Amino acid sequence: MFIAAIDIGGTKIKYGVVDDEGSISSQGSIQTHPKRGASDILMRIAEVITTMAKAYPLVGIGISATGQVDFYQGIISYATDLIPNWIGTNIRGYFEGKLNLPVVVENDVNCIAIAEHWQGSAIGEDSFICIALGTGIGGGIFNQGELYRGDNYGAGEFGHIKIVQNGRQCRCGDYGCYEAHASTDALISRAKVLAKLDNIDGETIFQRERNGDVLYKELVEEWIGFIADGLKSIVVSFNPKLIIIGGGVSAQGDYLLHRIEENLHQKLMPSFKKNLILKMASAGNDSGLLGAAYLLLRNLEGK
Ligand SMILES: [Zn+2]
Repeated sequence: MFIAAIDIGGTKIKYGVVDDEGSISSQGSIQTHPKRGASDILMRIAEVITTMAKAYPLVGIGISATGQVDFYQGIISYATDLIPNWIGTNIRGYFEGKLNLPVVVENDVNCIAIAEHWQGSAIGEDSFICIALGTGIGGGIFNQGELYRGDNYGAGEFGHIKIVQNGRQCRCGDYGCYEAHASTDALISRAKVLAKLDNIDGETIFQRERNGDVLYKELVEEWIGFIADGLKSIVVSFNPKLIIIGGGVSAQGDYLLHRIEENLHQKLMPSFKKNLILKMASAGNDSGLLGAAYLLLRNLEGK
């Protein structure tokens, strides 16, 4: 079976044809051009899927989308103003009408969590928390084999846990949110200020830190402390056995993971850390595509 999988991010729209074993073919990406608005984005995705449909007998379309998603209706229930008119966009209605195939739509981090459960670090684990730590911070909550989505599909928006009183300004309008301090964007902004640089990337920061540069050591140490602060709130709220860290930082591997774990352990009561396992995500860069395709497969099975 072949599924057209689409991952709509703020910068890029990834696409690929996923089979029921999780192999991806005909992969590619196009620019999102968010400022052109929702209808332009949907129109260009429809062109991509139409091309796929000529080469593969598609059984449906799985879409991972930025923003809070009403999974049952396939509508964006809330989003920031990154894409004008994104809130209320009926993604499922649009593609079902245009392409006459079954469609599922789910939030991007929830799709990552599903992919980790299907092919990654959470195989065989029915309850776990997935956090995506990159330019922002998002989360997915798996409880007894099912995603926990919340009343208005906003469950797991860990990026807006408040961790610093009067802290840095966040995209949501508040100050001191988790993602304003612990995202990779936050790390890079802080490095620019402290090192008086116009430009630096995450990779260079970690490289200089590994080389023993004191300024970067302190910077990364502070950032790891922020990551652990947010994780602590998550751990005491859910008492999970497994937390998976995905997103941009997962590329740093065990080197970073162990330091986060060490910092977190200093902050937790013994009962919470007794069986807690932290893992980096392992379903790969295309986990959004995999998760969206898996949801479509489940949907076809009537689950
Ligand atoms: Zn916020």
